[in-house]
Amino acid sequence: MTSVMEARRVLVVGAGAVGLSAAIQLQRRGFAVTVIEESAPGAGASYGNSGMLVADTAIPTFQPGMIWKVPGWLADPLGPLTVKARYLPQALPWLWRYLKSGTRRQVFHAAEALRALHRSTFEGWLDNVGHDAMSRLTRRDGQVYLWEGMKAPPARGLEDEVRTHLGIESEMLGADRVRQYFPGISRDVSHGLLVPGNGHTVDPHGLVNSLAEAFLREGEGTLLRERVMRAWRAEDGRWSVMTNLGSHCGDALVVAAGAWSGRLLAPLGVAIPLETERGYHVMLRNPSVRLGMPILNKTRYFGVSSMSDGLRVSGTVEIAGLDAPPTLARAKILVTQAKRLFPDLAFEEQAYWMGHRPSIPDGLPAIGEVHGKPGLFACFGHGHSGLTAAPASGQLLAQLVAGERPAIDPAPYSPARFS
Ligand SMILES: Cc1cc2nc3c(=O)[nH]c(=O)nc-3n(C[C@H](O)[C@H](O)[C@H](O)COP(=O)(O)OP(=O)(O)OC[C@H]3O[C@@H](n4cnc5c(N)ncnc54)[C@H](O)[C@@H]3O)c2cc1C
Repeated sequence: MTSVMEARRVLVVGAGAVGLSAAIQLQRRGFAVTVIEESAPGAGASYGNSGMLVADTAIPTFQPGMIWKVPGWLADPLGPLTVKARYLPQALPWLWRYLKSGTRRQVFHAAEALRALHRSTFEGWLDNVGHDAMSRLTRRDGQVYLWEGMKAPPARGLEDEVRTHLGIESEMLGADRVRQYFPGISRDVSHGLLVPGNGHTVDPHGLVNSLAEAFLREGEGTLLRERVMRAWRAEDGRWSVMTNLGSHCGDALVVAAGAWSGRLLAPLGVAIPLETERGYHVMLRNPSVRLGMPILNKTRYFGVSSMSDGLRVSGTVEIAGLDAPPTLARAKILVTQAKRLFPDLAFEEQAYWMGHRPSIPDGLPAIGEVHGKPGLFACFGHGHSGLTAAPASGQLLAQLVAGERPAIDPAPYSPARFS
């Protein structure tokens, strides 16, 4: 690990939950931080996610035996996964690595590493945005996983083993208890699992905006609205970026550009396997249903959360790259799923969104200095849980840049694991 303790100016590319969490932590360590964001803060994946702050969830998305479920998912028009045929050749190496990660060993390895990033999410967000924003925007009110049409409770499986191993509290619910929590829910729902330690934000974009405001309020941080087009290391060892509006120079460069990070790193010869798992949401305005806590439907793989401006139904994984236009049908599926789950659901209007989950096939983000590139740091690849993992990831990144002893073991996230 190379310390750049002497570095004073740090450039951070990307003002999503992750980049801004890193920026504020760097700033608190005395660095002059310039965040460069091509859009508005929090306008990437951090904008439209399900808002779940899953302190007590640490299971990666892959599972042993998953490969056998894939054909069924792909064949089902309402299924949780789709791969655009034209993009398949490009995605194949990533998909293969992802499916190969579905071993018991890798599930436990990833779960332990995710646990280290997730468990302190509420404390981390509080530390970063302060009491006012936290009490306005977040609720630690639990989360319920749901299963449909099962005669007996879901068999104790690997997820339960992981929860027991990590000391995570949960409670199995019968259909009656589920209906008490969620009046009006479909009779198809047979079981639930309450995870009381989880929670959510009622406004993910608002939460990330609070982080941007805290960053600007607390120090001399700069937030530039520019698109980084190229990065390079100058002869004096400093890092420069060329943007659509000029160029900037720093002692260290942090790439936190979510799913777009690979595009900035590839010209530097850095190959970290990163793919976009495109996800969708639909916002149902003035809904007749208001949830006391968010739902994750484990039979049909989608989430439902009550937000300050309506009911958000989100999910689906679409492998189609960064450039293909959104597939409206994928978003519309979510309306169908919501109406199935709450048969009497009424709402006034619906708004669709698509975003890019930045995903690495071993289920873990890349956080740390890039092998052989002193001063170049990665902080991306948080997949399905980057809103949750952002505070701990930002803190770890800042500790590594500052040459401090990290609060958590950085090894599982090292970008060097792909070298
Ligand atoms: C449907 C869906 C549901 C989800 N639900 C949850 C959930 O409930 N809980 C949870 O914890 N996570 C959830 N996630 C995952 C979470 O949203 C992401 O992991 C997280 O937002 C990633 O944050 P980020 O800062 O790395 O990326 P982003 O938020 O995508 O930020 C990257 C930023 O970099 C900028 N950028 C890119 N390239 C450049 C460039 N060249 N120059 C300048 N700027 C650039 C982009 O404009 C963007 O703002 C969900 C994701 C999706 C899609």
